Order: sequence, then C-alpha cells, then structure tokens
Amino acid sequence: MITDNLIRIKAGIPEGVTLVAVSKYHPLSAIQEAYQAGQRIFGESRAQDLIIKAPAMPSDTKWHFIGHLQTNKVRSIIPYVDLIHSVDSLHLLQTIEREAARADKIVDFLFQAHVAMEETKFGLSQQELAELPSKWQPVDTPHVRLRGLMGMASNTDDERRIRADFMALKDSFQMLQKSYPSNTQIDILSMGMSDDHLIAIECGSTMVRVGSSIFSA
Ligand SMILES: *Cc1c(COP(=O)(O)O)cnc(C)c1O
Repeated sequence: MITDNLIRIKAGIPEGVTLVAVSKYHPLSAIQEAYQAGQRIFGESRAQDLIIKAPAMPSDTKWHFIGHLQTNKVRSIIPYVDLIHSVDSLHLLQTIEREAARADKIVDFLFQAHVAMEETKFGLSQQELAELPSKWQPVDTPHVRLRGLMGMASNTDDERRIRADFMALKDSFQMLQKSYPSNTQIDILSMGMSDDHLIAIECGSTMVRVGSSIFSA
C-alpha cells in the first residue's frame, strides 16, 4: 500500500524536486516499508517522535524537522536532523546555532514564511523577511546554513487562492536569494503537501512534503 502510494506520487514529481515523506504520527513499521521502497527522506513534526524513530532506522535515513520547534527541544533533535524547515524567529535560530556549535555540527535550515490565511500562525511575514538582512547575517551564526524557505498555502479548495499563496512564497524565496547574494546555497523552496503539491511544483517548489497520501489508507 505505502509502496504503491510512493510509486504513484514519485511518478508525478519531476526530477529536481525532492520528496519528503511526512511520517509524523505513523509507526516505525510504516517508515520501514517506505524505506524498503527506496524512500530516504522523512519529515517529523514533534521532537519527541523524531528522537525515538531516528535511532531505530538505518543510518542513511535523512530526517527533516517540519513542525513548530520550541527552543527547549532543539538540543534533543540536533544529533538527528538534516534540515530544519521551520525556523520562524531569530531567537530560535540563535538557539539552534548555540546547540549546533555545542555538538560541533553545521545544521541546514529554512526560514518558515507565513503568507496563507490558514490556521497556522507560525512563520515570518513578507515584511519580516524583507527586514532580515538588517537583523541577521550568516557570519553571525557559523553553525547553521540558510538553504531557503518553507511555507504553506491556505487551507481551501479555491485553487486560485492556493496558486496565489505559492506565487507569494516564490516571490519571498527570490527576495531571500537577493538579500544574501554571497550565499549561493539558497536553493530550497519547500512548499506543497498531499493535496496541493502538484500546484506547488508548477509554482516553483523544489521540495514537497507529502504525508497522508503516502501513509494513510
Ligand atoms: C503534516 C504536514 C505536512 C504533510 O501534510 P499531508 O497533507 O499529510 O501531506 C506537510 N508539511 C507540514 C508542515 C506538516 O505539518
């Protein structure tokens, strides 16, 4: 079932777009089945789940943290995480920097943008993203590496609205690239979930986060 879902979803995703299999709330057995089917990148949204699942999987499994991250949970996930999608404040970024330094690691991250009229209240507004360069420069935080932007579209059936949200995210992503011209590694635009990932890809997504259409019956 999971294998069939993965094959179907991968067939719809062009080369150059990375699939994150969002395994939150799903048991290790489901993750193992996806791994057997060739999937290597998994997304979790709770620190307490990630730190149980990650050590139980083969070491070439990659873990992305996609949920709201509390500063007091940062230390626990640092050993396992390959990319944090959900950096929504400079305070959180400073904490990740401190903990990554302590672990002698460099951690890749995305700023989370908030454009959608959805219930999630996390993420930086377009205005806050525009003001970032005056508040933060990569040299300030040598143990983290900015790789791009993550965002969500409004939770609606209105496809025009979804498309407009993704285009706004794409604009913010390009603004971020221009804001940090010497940082050439800003190459990840993480947007698109089970219901809207094909629209997101049309709008320029380079990384989709798909959960329920892989793991649910
Ligand atoms: C749960 C979640 C997803 C996956 O959503 P599905 O609709 O199950 O594909 C993607 N991104 C984030 C941030 C999530 O919390």
